[in-house]
Amino acid sequence: MSAEIISGTEISKAIKEELKAEVAELAEKHGVVPGLVTILVGDDPASQSYVSAKNKTAHALGIHSEQVTLPAETSEEELLGLIDKYNKDDKINGILVQLPLPKHINEARVLYAIDPDKDVDGFHPVNVGKMMLGEKCFLPCTPHGILELLARSGVETSGKEVVVLGRSNIVGKPIANLMLQKRESGNATVTLCHTRTKDTDFHTRRADILIAAVGVPNLVKADQVKEGVVVIDVGVNRVGKTESGKAILAGDVEFESVKEKASKITPVPGGVGPMTITMLMKNTVQAARQAAGLE
Ligand code: NAP
Repeated sequence: MSAEIISGTEISKAIKEELKAEVAELAEKHGVVPGLVTILVGDDPASQSYVSAKNKTAHALGIHSEQVTLPAETSEEELLGLIDKYNKDDKINGILVQLPLPKHINEARVLYAIDPDKDVDGFHPVNVGKMMLGEKCFLPCTPHGILELLARSGVETSGKEVVVLGRSNIVGKPIANLMLQKRESGNATVTLCHTRTKDTDFHTRRADILIAAVGVPNLVKADQVKEGVVVIDVGVNRVGKTESGKAILAGDVEFESVKEKASKITPVPGGVGPMTITMLMKNTVQAARQAAGLE
């Protein structure tokens, strides 16, 4: 039996339709237009394409968006000055600094300078701490997207064995934390594996829900999962190029073999990927509602 495909493309499309309607209603009823600024330092082509996709999506949803591109030699002080300016700008509800930053800039200092009420990436320690405590906050976009994928595909997490591969601050740690929160989208028993885990296969084989975020192409094979597992594959790994020069992507899970054993699985591309930008938009709309005293 082949697994049901959890389509992030379809689910993110549905969420974007909802957001578009919400943005229109905010403008009509309250005169509120959510605003997002993206700040890119340097000319890394991948970062440029991420930032332009974020602005394009914001624009399509009716969110006011500003894109600032600074030269790679911009000083930390200049960047902090710009963040301070946007912290005080009422038209802007969300500030996104595209990572990675050039080496001479202290990433933590920059992220911590963003007003937590405008931290739509959910990376500020205030939001990370609130997430830990189960309080309302901006959730980091990729884990937030995973919650939506599970909920909208009817996957129950309560009482389930959730195994997370990878302990990064942007995916592994936060999704593990969210899965164990005492609320509907959590209540799971969570195991978090990393490179020092002694017997990763032992853990993956007993997972009801397996979330892979390691950055190793096709790491998880069919013999490492149990029949009926739900698989969320976060990995985006470039494994080659087509004749026309387009990148060929693979997830952290060997899709073709694992889909024959899983009950549900996300593809790469078209799974978790499209959800990340969509959740950034959702956080920006939430920030605008909060700023307007509507939440
Ligand atoms: P990261 O910061 O590179 O961390 C990778 C984690 O995986 C580390 O905790 C590492 O363990 C662990 N790991 C590596 N090899 C392992 C193995 N063989 N067994 C168990 N654990 C292993 O990763 P990330 O930033 O979370 O990204 C992970 C993947 O997700 C990448 O492919 C990235 O491109 C993708 N990603 C996708 C999205 C999206 O929107 N779809 C968003 C973010 C990331 P140690 O801590 O012990 O080193």
